Amino acid sequence: MKLNSSLVWLRRDLRVFDHVALHQALQDSERVYCVFVYDTTILAGLPRRDRRVDFIHASIAEVAAELQQLGGHLIVRHADPAAAIPALAAELGVDAVYCNHDYEPQAIARDDAVAQSLRADGRQFFSYKDQVIFEKSEVLSQTGGVFSVFTPYKNAWLKKLEADPSVLAPYHIEPHAARLAPPPAGAQAQPLPTLAELGFEPSNLAEMKIPTGMSGAAQLWEDFLPRIASYKDARDYPAVKGPSYLSIHFRFGTLSVRHLVRTVVDLMARGAGGEGAPVWLAELIWREFYAMILFHNPHVVGGAYKPAYDAIQWETGPQAEELFAAWCEGRTGYPLVDAAMAQLNQTGYMHNRLRMVTACFLIKDLGIDWRRGEEYFALHLNDFDLASNNGGWQWASSSGCDAQPYFRIFNPITQSEKFDSTGKFIRRYLPQLKDLSDKEIHAPWLVPRMLPLDYPDPIVMHDEARKRTLERYAVVKK
Ligand code: FAD
Repeated sequence: MKLNSSLVWLRRDLRVFDHVALHQALQDSERVYCVFVYDTTILAGLPRRDRRVDFIHASIAEVAAELQQLGGHLIVRHADPAAAIPALAAELGVDAVYCNHDYEPQAIARDDAVAQSLRADGRQFFSYKDQVIFEKSEVLSQTGGVFSVFTPYKNAWLKKLEADPSVLAPYHIEPHAARLAPPPAGAQAQPLPTLAELGFEPSNLAEMKIPTGMSGAAQLWEDFLPRIASYKDARDYPAVKGPSYLSIHFRFGTLSVRHLVRTVVDLMARGAGGEGAPVWLAELIWREFYAMILFHNPHVVGGAYKPAYDAIQWETGPQAEELFAAWCEGRTGYPLVDAAMAQLNQTGYMHNRLRMVTACFLIKDLGIDWRRGEEYFALHLNDFDLASNNGGWQWASSSGCDAQPYFRIFNPITQSEKFDSTGKFIRRYLPQLKDLSDKEIHAPWLVPRMLPLDYPDPIVMHDEARKRTLERYAVVKK
């Protein structure tokens, strides 16, 4: 196919290498424009200081600079893309718009609307798989069914990759870069919008030293690769630098999933990567598992994956509101939970083990609806991803596919003793507890003291809460 010109619409794929839509557009067209739209329908609901907006803003500057270096240009708009993309396509007179798939229900509806407007105007709309290795119905059970349990899904995923490793091949940009369109007339002098022009103020992203853009992802990847062999042992301890911290980059596509998986698979084929590499790869497969679940089960947005769990009666009323506020603000009296919430509130990141502990605590110690926790995480996590966040929360509430059984209730004290045994993580976020011994720090109220601590007593007693939870979940007992 040969088109005169096309427009590549960047969304959660903020990079200029190994990019399927950009590669395809460059193959198909004489001239390729690129655009990023700051989506007013999303930005309107965010606080004025939002690390994600900061992250996008910095990453977009890098994309724009890279495109310019290659002889192209990034057009940037601040608008509702449902109207802005067809309008820009008409303004530029392009034959087609190219983008990469987004699997979230609202994004699918938006893309359908954009495709319809474009077609009504005589233009084409093309979308490609880019953010995952296998999508939608590509990994099915032997009987052709959609998986609802992770391990068989993972095995089928790995088998499919082994059968066709070409899915990891890169989609090059540079060899075709001569087709990148220079700035359209009048756009040359137009600088990128500032944060203030977008209605935002700087967050503490820079202070947190969270590296942004393609270069930031590359930096974190370089840092993680030498550590990948120890991932299996190190990943569960929040005070240890065990995981990759790449999640925000997965979220915004400043990295290529194909490139990372290719590197890990090569490592494993060479017998390198130790026990950690396959475990890390399995985490990437969890990410695809949840994206696949969301695609096939959009009812998980706002409802339990297993509908029977929607019958559970959660705590409501002023006391429940007070418990929820204490959880959000990290003053439950359980140090590991409070330190984890402080990590989230201060940095926008929370270690995976702690996401499980805090989610379980909200649902099964405080009896609060998991959707409220999901919403709080969605607002505060730098790496917020609808599919993974929903999957994580439904796992903790036992209502999801392959979820934690309802009677498995984390004990926040033993989790603390096991995963932060010396209290190093707790001391980092709760300095008022720094002088407690390694033994005392997990449950400070159990130790009689002369002077009161500047720290609350527990808002619930775990053993009593556990009993109430088992009663609450009785409605779903088989
Ligand atoms: P690493 O351990 O280095 O893992 C590498 C990558 O694998 C991650 O960046 C992520 O893309 C993926 N991954 C790892 N674990 C999981 C998992 N359990 N499910 C899905 N993908 C995974 N992850 C998000 O990216 N966004 C979210 O909004 C999100 N919300 C969560 C909510 C809850 C309640 C729970 C229990 C987990 C959630 N996770 C979420 C999954 C996981 O906690 C994070 O992906 C991980 O902590 C990110 O840190 P990392 O990049 O250092 O991970």
